[in-house]
Order: sequence, then structure tokens, then C-alpha cells
Amino acid sequence: MNKPLILVVEDDAPVRNLMTTTLKTNDYRYLVAANGEAAILEASSHNPDIVLLDLGLPDMDGVQVIEKIRSWSNMPIIVISARSEDSDKIEALDAGADDYLTKPFSVEELLARLRVTQRRLAYMTTEITSQSAIFENGKLRVDYAGGCAYLDGQELHLTPIEYKLLCLLSKNVGKVLTHTYITQHIWGRSWDNNMASLRVFMATLRKKLEAQPDSPQYIQTHIGVGYRMMKVE
Ligand code: CA
Repeated sequence: MNKPLILVVEDDAPVRNLMTTTLKTNDYRYLVAANGEAAILEASSHNPDIVLLDLGLPDMDGVQVIEKIRSWSNMPIIVISARSEDSDKIEALDAGADDYLTKPFSVEELLARLRVTQRRLAYMTTEITSQSAIFENGKLRVDYAGGCAYLDGQELHLTPIEYKLLCLLSKNVGKVLTHTYITQHIWGRSWDNNMASLRVFMATLRKKLEAQPDSPQYIQTHIGVGYRMMKVE
């Protein structure tokens, strides 16, 4: 198997060097770009497996880079932001980013995010291309055609909203979905009321799905941002 090709988009040379050194020593290939224009060019000419994208670039906002790349490709994009404001991450995720890392980050965090994304990629290529009507993840099984879900072979008794939530999360396994994205898909619009409802439905779904709702295995919470279903081995 080819080593995965990672496009590193970062204008800060020390951070870029840390990332490329980490990639090199962990068996990845990489390309670098120091601004948004170069990033778009590298992404279109080399079709990398994953893009690591700094949001604060000298020539354009990283969100514009995401929008450009998303006009032709679904390649996974992990955004890296020095800004701690959640709104930047949320904007990037809503523009089509898959995941995010906040600076400063450790080498271990970077490698962990890459592994999550690679698992998602592997899943997308093997499962989604076969147009599977059944989703399987650990002990969870969702029968999209039948409209039901099972945990360890036992049918889960879900309300229609819980089931819709489970389908939305499972169809985007490995990807962080923002509160706005989820509420728009479940209720067709995003209101403050729906944000509160989402928390309630997520809690009841977890009670049915997770062996230990306090340390969830399937659905991860991203405080102030959203939720993600993890790929469980
Ligand atoms: Ca920067």
C-alpha cells in the first residue's frame, strides 16, 4: 500500500517543520504550501489523501480554501487553528472540513487525528462505494432500508428523531458535525430551541446506544462545536 500523501498548508515555518518532521518519521509522504493559492494548486494537481489546513493564511482565509477544494473534491480536510474561538472551527466545519486541531497541539494529537481520518477514508472507500444499505460499526448495526437499528443483535427502540440522528451521524462516521448542521438536517432549520432539543435527544440516544453514557464509545461530544460518531473496531 502506498504511504498516504498529506498536504500541509501552513505559513508559520516552525509549525510547518514540526508537522513535516512528524509526518516523515511516521511513514507519511507530504507536500507543503505556505499560502492559500499554493494550497489550492497543490490540492488540484496532486490530489492528496488528507489536507492539514491552517485557517490563518497570509493571502486568504482558510475557509475560502475549503470552499474552493470542496467545489471539486471530497478529500478529507483537517483544519488547524491558533484561534481558540469556536466560531472559526464551526465556520470551517460548515464549509466542509472533516475535523479540527487547535494550536498548540502535540505530535500525538496530530497523529491521532490523521488515524481517525484514515479510518474514515478506508470506510468510505470500502463501504460507501458498495452502496451498502447496512451500516456496521462495532456492535452497532443500522439497517437504512428497514429503518431500524440493532446493538449486539438486539433491536434498539428509538424514537423517529433519535433514529434520524443516528442515521445522520452514522452516514458521516468519523466526521465532526456542527450543531447547526445537525439541527438543519433533523428539523430543517436551526433555532436556539432546536439546540436545546438536540442535547436532549442526544442524551436519550446515548442512553440506548452506549454501555456507559458518561464515557461514550460511539458518539463523541465536541463542546461548543457538535458531535461525531467514531469508527469503533
Ligand atoms: Ca497561520
